[in-house]
Amino acid sequence: MRLLFYAALVLALAGCETVATTQPGTVGIERKQTMMVSAQEIDQAAAQEYRKVITAAQQKGTLDRNAQHVQRVRTILNRMIPQTAALRADAPKWAWEVHVIQENQLNAWAMPGGKMVVYSGLIEKLQLTDNELAAIMGHEIAHSLREHARERVSQDMATGLGVSIAGALFGLGEVGTQLAGAVANVTFNLPHSRAHEVEADRFGVELAARAGYDPHAAVSLWQKMLSAGGGGGPQFLSTHPSPENRLADLKVYADRVMPLYQQARR
Ligand SMILES: [Zn+2]
Repeated sequence: MRLLFYAALVLALAGCETVATTQPGTVGIERKQTMMVSAQEIDQAAAQEYRKVITAAQQKGTLDRNAQHVQRVRTILNRMIPQTAALRADAPKWAWEVHVIQENQLNAWAMPGGKMVVYSGLIEKLQLTDNELAAIMGHEIAHSLREHARERVSQDMATGLGVSIAGALFGLGEVGTQLAGAVANVTFNLPHSRAHEVEADRFGVELAARAGYDPHAAVSLWQKMLSAGGGGGPQFLSTHPSPENRLADLKVYADRVMPLYQQARR
């Protein structure tokens, strides 16, 4: 009994809150999320981890080596940033950042706060069109907007895995380091949950459409990804597991956001 009381107290003091990170958008995502760590702490941890990855790539000489790739991802990001306002008002002001790392990985990811990396292998091997590149970036941006990493770290805190609540509660110096490790783990190692993937897919097509990219390119993107998945498979699929019905769901939601696309093209 006493233990339960303390557990409840710790949860309350640790700032456990239920939030709506985004507006429902045209695709209609309304799921509320339970957070046990502040967005500010997570974003700080993410920025720190992101800088590590970028610095390491710089030292290896693999950062932004192909000017054309860099130009393409920046153009897409710059077109999408203003459109994020439809899903959350604060997002256009985030310190968004994208880099291309010259590596033969079929991978891309976004950290909290809009810090993204696209690997050259993905663009080159899958011969992505701009619409397909926008589909993958829209999906990653959606993970950031929905704060899926913060939610995942919170879930791990609640179940006693990962960052300790006591640490968060007492603000020990180690917490920043622990959080940074947790953000990296969520980004690079842990598979996204099915619920997170569905949300990122749906918001992804909406963002692409709003930015004037054909939302149906998400379908061809995932077809390419899946056919590259044999024999070891793209790294992307290990953190972005693909439910059987992904292609069907993407098509339904791409159809739904077509008016946004047509409007953007006008
Ligand atoms: Zn994903």
